Amino acid sequence: MFTNIIPKKAIFATLTAAGLFGVAMLTLDVDIRVKDARAVTTPATDEQSPDKPSPNRDVYYPGTEELAADEMRVIACGTGMPMPRLKQAAACFVIELGNGDKFIFDMGNGSFERIHALGIPLDYLDKVFITHPHMDHMADLATFYMTGPQNNRSVPLRVWGPGGGGMRSEWSFKTAMDHMEKMWAWMSGTLAGTIDTTAMKLEVNEYDWSKVNNVIYEDNGVVIRSLPAIHFEGTASFILEWNGLRLAFSGDSLPNKWWIEHTQGVDLSIHECFFTPDMAMSKWSFSSQEALNAVTTIHANPSYFAKVMAMTKPKHAVAYHFQNDFDTQPIIRKAVEQIYDGPVDYAEDFMVWNVTKEGVRTRMAVVNPEGYPTPPLKEKKVEAGGDRYQTPDSVLAGWPEELNPIADKIYSDFNKEHGTDYKFQLKK
Ligand SMILES: [Zn+2]
Ligand SMILES: [Zn+2]
Repeated sequence: MFTNIIPKKAIFATLTAAGLFGVAMLTLDVDIRVKDARAVTTPATDEQSPDKPSPNRDVYYPGTEELAADEMRVIACGTGMPMPRLKQAAACFVIELGNGDKFIFDMGNGSFERIHALGIPLDYLDKVFITHPHMDHMADLATFYMTGPQNNRSVPLRVWGPGGGGMRSEWSFKTAMDHMEKMWAWMSGTLAGTIDTTAMKLEVNEYDWSKVNNVIYEDNGVVIRSLPAIHFEGTASFILEWNGLRLAFSGDSLPNKWWIEHTQGVDLSIHECFFTPDMAMSKWSFSSQEALNAVTTIHANPSYFAKVMAMTKPKHAVAYHFQNDFDTQPIIRKAVEQIYDGPVDYAEDFMVWNVTKEGVRTRMAVVNPEGYPTPPLKEKKVEAGGDRYQTPDSVLAGWPEELNPIADKIYSDFNKEHGTDYKFQLKK
C-alpha cells in the first residue's frame, strides 16, 4: 500500500539531480515526474518521533505490505547479464497482483537466490514464463525446480516456454524441460522416500512464440500474451494485462514492429537496454566485430531502447540487462536521453515498482541475506515420492560400526524429546 503520510502527488515526485545530492524537496503539492523515478524524499512530519517506528523509510521490506486490490508490484530479481556478478543476477522479474496471483518472468542465472530472499512461499510462485532458452533467462529454472523439495514446494511447478512456429524441435521448450528432468534424474531418484518430493512435478506449457499478441495464459482476470522478438528463432516478449493495468516485458529483442504496435502506452515497460559497442569492448573485452554484432544485431543498445520507448510512450519505462555501475549508467543514460525524455528507471536488482492506475512508485527492496526456506503450506510426507531409494550395500559397507552408538543416542534423545519411536537404520 502507498503510505498515507506523504500526499499522493508527492509520492510520484522524484528528485532532480540536485535532489540526489541532498537538496530537500519542499514542493509537496507539485506533481513532478522526472526521468529517474528512483528517489523520493521523506519530508519531516509531525509523526516523526525519536522513539517510535519511522512512518516512512521509503524502502520496501518484503512481507510487510499488503497489496491493494487494484495494485501490481514488480520486483527485479535479475537485471544483469550472463556474466556472474554479486550485485546483479541475470534476467528475472517477479510480478505480484492484488488478486493474489504471482508470476515469474524469466529466471536467469543467479536469480533464484534473489527470489528466495523475498521470503515468498514457493507454492505461491508456481507460474514461470520463459521468453527464450538462453542461460541468462532460464538457467535458474533448473535450480528453482530441482530444489523444490528442500524449499517446501508442495504444488506442481507450471512453466511456459517457446516452441512451434518453425523452431527446430530439438531446441523447443518441451525438449529442454524433458532434458532438464533427465539431467537431474539422479537427484530426483535418490531423494525419493528421504524427504517429501511432491515438488518434483512439472507442468510444461509450450506457446507458439511466432504468433503476434497471442494469448498464452488466461485465468483469474489475468491475460498474458506473447509477441515474437527479433533474437534468433524461438524468442518472445510478454504483455501481462490485469485489472486495466498492462505490463510489457521484452526478454531479449531488437526493436520490432510487434512490440511497437502492441505495447503502446503500457503502465510499465521493461525492456532490455544493452551496452554501447565501446562499452562492450572496454568492459567485456569483446572484439570490435563481436561488440557491434551483439549490440546492434541481437540486442537493443541504449539508442535502440530509447527509440522504442519514444515510439511506444509507456507510462513508465525500465531499462535492464546491463551492468549498472557508477561508470556505466551515465553513458547509457546520456545515450537514452538524446532520444527519449519520458520517465525511466535504470534497473538494478531488488528495485521494486508499485503500479496502480494513478502511476508507478519506484523503491528499493531491503531483503534478508540470511534467509531460510519459508514453512510449508501443507503437511510434509516423506512417502509422497514413493518407496525410499536404497543406497547399495557396497557403499554402505563403508559405514564405521563404531558410530552406531552415536547414531542410536541421537535417536533415543530425539524420541524422548518428541515422544516418537524412530530407530536408526541405514537400510530400510
Ligand atoms: Zn538472449
Ligand atoms: Zn539476455
